[in-house]
Amino acid sequence: MYIADMNMDEFAKCLKRLDTAIIPIGMTEAHGHHCPLGTDMIIPRHILRLINERIGHKVLIAPEIPYGHSWTLGIYPGTIDIPAEVFGEYVYHVGKGLAKWGVRKVILFNGHGGNIPTLSIVMERLADIGLATILINWWKDYAEEIRSICEGQGHAGEDETSAVLAIDSKLVDMSRARTNWQRAIGDMRYPAMGKDTMTHAMTGDATRASGDKGHTIYRLITPKIIELIDKFQAGDWII
Ligand SMILES: [Zn+2]
Repeated sequence: MYIADMNMDEFAKCLKRLDTAIIPIGMTEAHGHHCPLGTDMIIPRHILRLINERIGHKVLIAPEIPYGHSWTLGIYPGTIDIPAEVFGEYVYHVGKGLAKWGVRKVILFNGHGGNIPTLSIVMERLADIGLATILINWWKDYAEEIRSICEGQGHAGEDETSAVLAIDSKLVDMSRARTNWQRAIGDMRYPAMGKDTMTHAMTGDATRASGDKGHTIYRLITPKIIELIDKFQAGDWII
C-alpha cells in the first residue's frame, strides 16, 4: 500500500495492524548517453509496483527519495549530488518520522550504489532508536541471479539498461549504448576518477541489453525479494 495515496485516518488505521514500511531510495544521475537520469528511481519503483501487487496488503510503501549521493558521477550532466551527510540525515529523519506513527521495521529499497555507505550509517542510527532496518540493493543482493541472465553488470550497463528497457523501451536510446570496462586498480578516490573510470557516465556493456533480459531479471528477483521481506517481517533474521 502506498502511504501517499492514503488519508491520515486510513494511515492511522493501517498502523494498527502493520509495522513495516519500505522507503524507496534512488538517485538523479547521468546513466550513459542512452539511459534516463532517473534510472536508479525508475527501476526500484517498478520492482516495488510488482511487490505491491503481491504483498501490498501487508507492507507500507513510503514516498520515494529521488536524490542521493554520487561522488564519482558528479561531473556528468544531470547528476544532482547531495552530500553524504545531508542525504544520510534526510533518510534518517524519514525513518524516524515513520517510527513516530508506529513503524518498527524499515526496508531501505535502494537503486544506487553511491548511496550504500551512507545508508549503512543510517541503519545504525535507526537501530539506536529501536528500529529494525534492512537495506536491499537489488542489483547487488541478487547479482548471482542477474549474472545468470546478463554477461556482466554495470552502471547503465547490460543489467540496468535491460531493466529500464523492460519498463519502457522509449526511455532508452540503444543507438547511443556503449561499452566501458575501465576501472581503478582498487577501491580508490582521486580527483579525475569519474572521468577515468566512468567514461561516458557508464560501465559494462550496454550494447548487450534487451527488454527480454530485463523481464527475466524481474521475474527471477521479485519472488526472492518478497521472500526476504517475509522473513524480515516475521523476525526470522538469523540464518
Ligand atoms: Zn544506476
